[in-house]
This record gives sequence, C-alpha cells and structure tokens, in this order.
Amino acid sequence: MTIKVDDIAATLPPVGAEGTYKSDSNGEVRSEAAQKRNIDLPLPEGQCLSLWLQTVRNNPLLDHRTTEELPSQAEVVIIGSGITGSLTALSLLQSANPPSSIVVVEARELCSGATGRNAGHCKPDQWRGFTKYKQAFGAEQSLKALVAYVRKHNVDCDLWVGKTVCASSLDVAMTREIAEVSAKNFADYKAAGGKVDHIEVITEPAAAEKRSRLKGAQAVYAWDASTLHPWKLVANVIQKALDLGLNLQTWTPVSAVTGSEGKWEIHTDRGVITTPIVVHATNAYAGHLLPETKGIIRPTPHMCNKVLPPASFAGSKALQNSYAVMFPEGLYSINPRRAGDGIVLFGGSAPNQKFLNEYVNSDPERKTNDSLINFEPVTDAVRKLGTEHFQWDPVPGQSKGNAVRYDYAWSGIIGRSADGVPYIGKVPGKPGQWMCAGHNGHGMARIFTCAPALAKMIQGASWSETGLPECFEVTKERLDRLRG
Ligand SMILES: Cc1cc2nc3c(=O)[nH]c(=O)nc-3n(C[C@H](O)[C@H](O)[C@H](O)COP(=O)(O)OP(=O)(O)OC[C@H]3O[C@@H](n4cnc5c(N)ncnc54)[C@H](O)[C@@H]3O)c2cc1C
Repeated sequence: MTIKVDDIAATLPPVGAEGTYKSDSNGEVRSEAAQKRNIDLPLPEGQCLSLWLQTVRNNPLLDHRTTEELPSQAEVVIIGSGITGSLTALSLLQSANPPSSIVVVEARELCSGATGRNAGHCKPDQWRGFTKYKQAFGAEQSLKALVAYVRKHNVDCDLWVGKTVCASSLDVAMTREIAEVSAKNFADYKAAGGKVDHIEVITEPAAAEKRSRLKGAQAVYAWDASTLHPWKLVANVIQKALDLGLNLQTWTPVSAVTGSEGKWEIHTDRGVITTPIVVHATNAYAGHLLPETKGIIRPTPHMCNKVLPPASFAGSKALQNSYAVMFPEGLYSINPRRAGDGIVLFGGSAPNQKFLNEYVNSDPERKTNDSLINFEPVTDAVRKLGTEHFQWDPVPGQSKGNAVRYDYAWSGIIGRSADGVPYIGKVPGKPGQWMCAGHNGHGMARIFTCAPALAKMIQGASWSETGLPECFEVTKERLDRLRG
C-alpha cells in the first residue's frame, strides 16, 4: 500500500462512517481490517518486503520447518525468529549444558519482523542518551561482540565497520541547540569515566560541514559503528543453531500461552507444544502473549528509505561514513552500504514521523500493519535532507551522470518501550517464562549482549553475573510503575 500526502485525509475515518468503523471496548475506532484480524499479531498477509527480504527470496530458510509436524513437547520454546530469538537459541545450544530440545516458533517467514526490516545500521548509543539515563550500557562491548561473531564465522552479510578517522560513523548536530545538548551529554559521559579517546570531536561548523558533507552541520562526533545485511546475519545464526539440533517452525503464529510452572502450553493452529521454558522474543508484539506488557511495549511503524545516490556521490565520491543526523524533529540514521552496493538507506525517527504517527493513530489496525510502503511525508523529509544538506539535486545542465532517485520505502514495526530501555529477564509471576523485548529503534548491536545474557540466566546465572544494566531488568515493580 503506497500512501501519498493527499491520501492521508481521505483514509482517516470520515465523520459519520459508522458502517465501516466501530468502537471497541476502549473506545478506540476499529476499522473493518482491524475487525478481520488479530491486530496484536504480525500481519498474516500482504506485508511489504524490505530491501533485505527482497534479496533472499530464494533462500529456503525463509519458510523452513525442520519437522513436518509441530513437536508436541520441547525443553525450551522460543517465540520469534528475529535477532533476539535466533541468538538466544544459538547461545543455549552452544552452552556447556545445552537443552535437549529447542523449538523456535515464528509467525511468518524467518526474521520478517523488525530485524528483517531495519536500515542495517548497528550503532551503539554510547553517550548520546547518557545524560538521560546516567548510565553507560556497555554499548561498545555489544558492537564488538557483533563484529567478532561476523568475523569469526566469516558471515556473508556485507559487514562494514567504521573505525578510522576517514571512515567512521558520524553523529551530526544540525542546529546550535543540538550541538550544545550533544556537548553536555558528551561531557557528562566523559566525567563519569566513559571512554572517549576513540571519539573524534568537531565543534567548529565549517569543519563539521567539510567532514560530514552536510551543509549546515554544526558539530560532528565520529566513532565506531557498523552496517550489515541483518537478514543474512540471522540466517547464519539460525543455520548454526539448526546444525546443533534446533527445530525451527516458520508460519506458525502463537495464539496463547497457558498452563503453569513446569508445564506451559504454547497454542498454535498446528497444535500445542508443552514446555517448562518459554522465551518471548516477540518484541513489538509482546503484548499479545504477555498482557502485562501491553501499553508499555507499543508497536510503532517506522519507514526505511532506499535512495540511489547521484553520480556526484557515487564511485570514488561515494559516502564514506554512516550517519546519525540530528534535527530537533528527529534523526536520520543513514547506511550508505559501503560493503555492499553503495545504495544509501535512511532509517531513524526522521522528521515528518509525526505524519506517520497521525496516520497510524487514526486506526489501531495500522500499528502492526507492515504492508505500508512509500509513505510520502517521510520520503519528503528524506528528499529535503538530500536536497538541502547533501545538495543532491543537480542544477540542470551542470552535473553529469544519473540524478538522485528516491526509489522505495518500506515499513517495519518497532517495539517502543515506555521508559526507553528493553525488558529482559524472568516474566514476573510466571516461573519458567522469560522475555527480551522492547528494543525501540536500536537493538541490533545491543542484542548481541542481551540475548546471550538471557540464555545464561535461563541456565541459572544471576542478573549481576550477566553484566547487563539494572534498568533493563523486567520486574513487577517496573511493570506496575509504567502501567501507572
Ligand atoms: C524501520 C526500522 C528501523 C530500525 N532501524 C534500526 C537501526 O538502524 N539500528 C538498530 O540497531 N535497530 C534498528 N531498528 C530496531 C531493530 O530492528 C530491533 O530492535 C531489533 O531488530 C529487534 O529484534 P527482535 O528479534 O527483538 O525483534 P523482531 O526482529 O521484531 O522479531 C520478533 C519476531 O517475533 C515474531 N512474532 C511476534 N509475535 C509472534 C507470535 N505470537 N507467534 C510467533 N511469532 C511471533 C515476529 O514475526 C518477529 O519475526 C529498527 C527497526 C525498524 C522497524
């Protein structure tokens, strides 16, 4: 479904359209589409394809089922096959004392949630949010763990690591105010003992413009990050787990988890699996099976834009860095696929996200509807950055070669956490149930420490032994406080 600016008003529920929109018990307006499907579950048909999913249509892992029949029991059942579910499975299977059987159950194709739909930018939020959280999250270690995995296993996933002075990941402040806030965050992080010697800091606007190639840049912080093909990474992780005995069941949505300690029942339309250990790796969709997380993990659609750069930014002039470009209205996360084809991907909470939010908020069905493509207001914001700051649009007759092309935009559903950090650990009051969800628009690097840590806890480690920050732990007190 492509959305143009003029369509938005037309698609809002018209006044008096009671025939097509009904109120549910919360007073929310429910469209016909919402009434036809369970809107807390992944969209079962019509979902759009990200660039990643488009490039792996012939991979048999997409619809893999290890056994024709769904197993009736397992020692561990993991729900969700994104980076969280697949890495938790592999961590358990590679441990000294692996479970005798693990089933990963996935509602749709392998890795067709947020992991298969993001912009492929793995940028640990090391110091940017420091003043807000007053805590370093070991972000650097997470990125190192991800890169080490890819290198150790020689994973074919277009990995690029920005580490040097000429090619790194740039945080670019586009206004004086943002430059000042960034400087404060950076100073607080440094004063608290945060490691900063690897971060290149440019606070002089002319130098910031030159380094970033962005007209109007006010300050630049250059540090480590990486970009990759996230689906191919998960496919590698899952294949390793399959080699160690994992049973993967795609196209099997879990409708309910019932039972009690020692005997949880995982309900699907292909049968029931009984297990003592359940792992919820369902991210944005966690609320369906864990009602205690409803409202505090909010499914929130985001767009990623694929842009073919103009000739003036191709070949030897291609972008050398990945970016987080910060404006007061939101940021652009930019992955120029340096180890791939040089196509530039834009993600992030781009300016004009508010229009997407308005569109989504007018019908609850849209919160988990990832059929949306080419949402024009977000593409307009990307076009504005290209035109005004990268200065991509050629002056007619003055530039050789191809012009920029704003080619395609796809959607994915982010699991937005009410307090900004994920929920990891034992599900309160449900012994044997575990979760790792609510990763917001980050997570790709961080999950490389969170999922192995969750696996250790499932096998008996305490929270403090995992080294994860305390604010990530899911506790009854935290859930109660956030639910208000
Ligand atoms: C558009 C977009 C851009 C992003 N950009 C970035 C970025 O640049 N950098 C970054 O680090 N992060 C980014 N993120 C966030 C990142 O992708 C996520 O934090 C991360 O992928 C979460 O991984 P996950 O495995 O926990 O969740 P997911 O990948 O969403 O996996 C959850 C899986 O559970 C399955 N599932 C859900 N409910 C059920 C059920 N009832 N039964 C069976 N299966 C079920 C889903 O189908 C899905 O496959 C972005 C996300 C989006 C959507």
